[in-house]
Amino acid sequence: MDTSTITFSKLVDRLQRHYGSPRPPALTDPLELIIWENIAYLASDERRAEAFATLKRSVGTLPQQILAAKHSALAAIGKAGILPDVSAEKLLTIAKIAYEEFDSELQSVLKKPLPQAKKALKKFPSIGDPGAEKILLLTRSYPVMALDSNGLRVLCRMGFAEEQKNYSATYRSVQDAIRRQLPKDYDSLIRAHLLLRQHGQLLCKRSQPRCAGCPLRDECNYDRKA
Ligand code: SF4
Repeated sequence: MDTSTITFSKLVDRLQRHYGSPRPPALTDPLELIIWENIAYLASDERRAEAFATLKRSVGTLPQQILAAKHSALAAIGKAGILPDVSAEKLLTIAKIAYEEFDSELQSVLKKPLPQAKKALKKFPSIGDPGAEKILLLTRSYPVMALDSNGLRVLCRMGFAEEQKNYSATYRSVQDAIRRQLPKDYDSLIRAHLLLRQHGQLLCKRSQPRCAGCPLRDECNYDRKA
């Protein structure tokens, strides 16, 4: 049930006044965005960026380049996160799918109708509906409101929907609640995606959110309940 007391656009405007305008996303290539998600398990953005730069410099991000790399070299890069061997396997799987099923280029996938584009992107490791929507938004292929776990948590706490046991169900509830309020243009949607993510990472953390310094506090259901 939607119990929010602030509109989506006002919420995002407040976040922008607090954090400033977000920097544009560093990656806009679909394959590189998929690699970014998988390169280092549970790594911070900073460590993930270092790992990505190392991959680009020492191996490359083309499927053929990754497939030609030694597993040990990919695992060394994956040490930026936990489970480096798993990350190496995922990079090889990504390269194999891209090479064998998409002829090494994903731009044509982005031009498919939305359901087919999402289905194709979800063939890759760690890419579910939220990940597919993030790729479609950041590549400016479809104006969808992609939310990562940070953004989803913020909107739940702000009362747009209740958090449920099942992540997918929570994601759908929040999307249903905000659908009619969403901006239509890419710049505004990307801005909202980035600001909600930033807020979830810096203040509205999963445990012990820092509500005292939050620009949304007077409209927040979670803070009133806590
Ligand atoms: S008041 Fe606290 S729980 Fe509510 S949005 Fe801000 S940080 Fe999150």
